[in-house]
Amino acid sequence: MKRYIAGIFCFLLLLFSVQAPAQNTVMQVSTIDALVAGLYDGTMSCGRLLQYGDLGIGTFDRLEGEMLVLDGTVYQIKADGRVYTPDGSMTTPWAAVCRFGADDTITLKRGMDFKELGEMIDASISNKNLFYAIKITGTFSYMKTRSVPAQNKPYPPLVEVTKKQSVFEMKNISGTIVGFRCPTYVKGINVPGYHLHFISEDHARGGHILDLETVAGLCAIDRCNQFFLVLPTEGEAFKKVDLSKDRTKDLYQIEK
Ligand code: ZN
Repeated sequence: MKRYIAGIFCFLLLLFSVQAPAQNTVMQVSTIDALVAGLYDGTMSCGRLLQYGDLGIGTFDRLEGEMLVLDGTVYQIKADGRVYTPDGSMTTPWAAVCRFGADDTITLKRGMDFKELGEMIDASISNKNLFYAIKITGTFSYMKTRSVPAQNKPYPPLVEVTKKQSVFEMKNISGTIVGFRCPTYVKGINVPGYHLHFISEDHARGGHILDLETVAGLCAIDRCNQFFLVLPTEGEAFKKVDLSKDRTKDLYQIEK
């Protein structure tokens, strides 16, 4: 009987640990510099990714579009400007997610651009050395995003891909912004500062945000003090890539 109860307990523990990851934890697949270097083969399925969180951003196998995870659904904003919902077997070479729980909510001011939005959030956070997951629901008089098409081997570096990115400009659009504010010391691993993606309210448009202008909305912030990094173990690419190089300049060019 004791053994039976212990078995049930272990099963529940396992179930809980798989389905409900720790709060305030950013889980990331691979490093940003590996992606910048051209490691676009997916290494984690979207199904598994969702076990670690219900909100986040990333990209897909072969760099096929921008990823946005919202309320446990993975959205794929492709270079054709459309939004798809890939199934759980689709893989990602780079993504970051968390189980979102708002610690704080700020009301957006009208007329802020991307930089001013960041400054407003900066002013409300008390510890700039922690990670912050961000979820903004609102209306925007302007939204400029981009996406990138699937790449073929040998993969070109990301800075070459983004030179030919698709850029989308939207006016008077409602939707959700999802992403992270990462501390400066993550350089090489994630993107220091703000990295935000957008999806329209009707889930028809979106992408990696290049610029915006706010009208109104709410910015929910989840302070995360745990960082869980999952590195690729299969294949030769991650073994062979030189990650000693400083790719800050390339990353800046890619992000803006
Ligand atoms: Zn992005």
